[in-house]
Amino acid sequence: MFKAILLSKENDTFNARITQIAESDLPAGEVHLQVAYSTINYKDALAITNKGPIVRQWPLVPGVDGCGTVLDSAHPDFRPGDQVILNGWGVGEKHWGCLAQQARLQADWLVPLPAAFTPEQAMALGTAGYTAMLCVMALEESGVTPGAGPVLVTGATGGVGSVAVTLLAQAGYQVAAMTGKAQSADYLRALGASIVIDRAPFATAGKPLQKEQWAGVVDTVGSHTLANACAQTRYGGAVAACGMAQGLDFPGSVAPFILRAVTLRGVDSVMAHKSLRVKAWQRLAETLDRARLTQMTERIGLGDVIAAAERIMAGQHQGRYVVDVN
Ligand code: NDP
Repeated sequence: MFKAILLSKENDTFNARITQIAESDLPAGEVHLQVAYSTINYKDALAITNKGPIVRQWPLVPGVDGCGTVLDSAHPDFRPGDQVILNGWGVGEKHWGCLAQQARLQADWLVPLPAAFTPEQAMALGTAGYTAMLCVMALEESGVTPGAGPVLVTGATGGVGSVAVTLLAQAGYQVAAMTGKAQSADYLRALGASIVIDRAPFATAGKPLQKEQWAGVVDTVGSHTLANACAQTRYGGAVAACGMAQGLDFPGSVAPFILRAVTLRGVDSVMAHKSLRVKAWQRLAETLDRARLTQMTERIGLGDVIAAAERIMAGQHQGRYVVDVN
């Protein structure tokens, strides 16, 4: 038996609880993992609070991210004792996830834990941190350089936002951090933001073309915020869109794309190719300032997960939760 968070729905009644699960109840998978750490991403919070249509199989152990040690493997790429990372692939949505002490997963879903990270550091980053790196890489591939002008990060106190601010500032970009939390300005400056701006003016419809400000944008928010960010992007700049904390809609115009040659890059972490994942994790291992990671991370236990998910959904949280599942 092992401990896990379990989400269930019976007769339309949703329940989230911490419980004991038998190893024999784990779903089929090539690799049996002893999970050391997991985390709570926005998507996990949606699932655990039943606020979004994330769960596609009931009952479900949530947790789109996990890091731990291989116990058994039926795949030649992994052996008992190997340390691995799991991010996405529908785990924690349609396959039992890693907010548990054990998981059974497909080998193709796993990447080796870079030697430069502890399991706790890898999960302090989690999907949020790996997605932030994918966004930085997307901006670089679109030709955005530190000399080109400031880069805007929306949802800046969130998990993706906090890591994106840190990575961009460390790489020499001038970072404008957009937030709804005026009280978090010092936190964002400590991560490396040069300017902190209020998100309120971005939240409603604006003109299709506005004053050119940003060489690049990392957007975690979607909706009007993304449309306004595109409208403020400089000629030839790029916007990496990865999130929908404000909304899934995109009420913008094509003006920035056809009149200012702005590039809109979609960023997905869930189904990203393994080679891209390995590259992103390697770059995180090589570049990320560990002290800033510690600054943005709060460690909690499995028993704290449900309350923490509620705080994320209430917009009361900043940075990252890392979950010590043991
Ligand atoms: P967090 O909850 O940690 O952060 C989201 C942040 O968005 C909040 O901290 C807040 O920042 C801001 N925000 C919340 N509500 C609103 C609103 N109504 N309007 C404007 N801003 C708002 O989430 P994550 O960082 O983990 O994820 C961010 C987004 O990215 C989510 O939508 C998530 O689903 C998505 N995502 C996508 C991935 C992909 O593969 N494409 C992978 C990972 C995440 P502040 O208070 O500073 O404004």
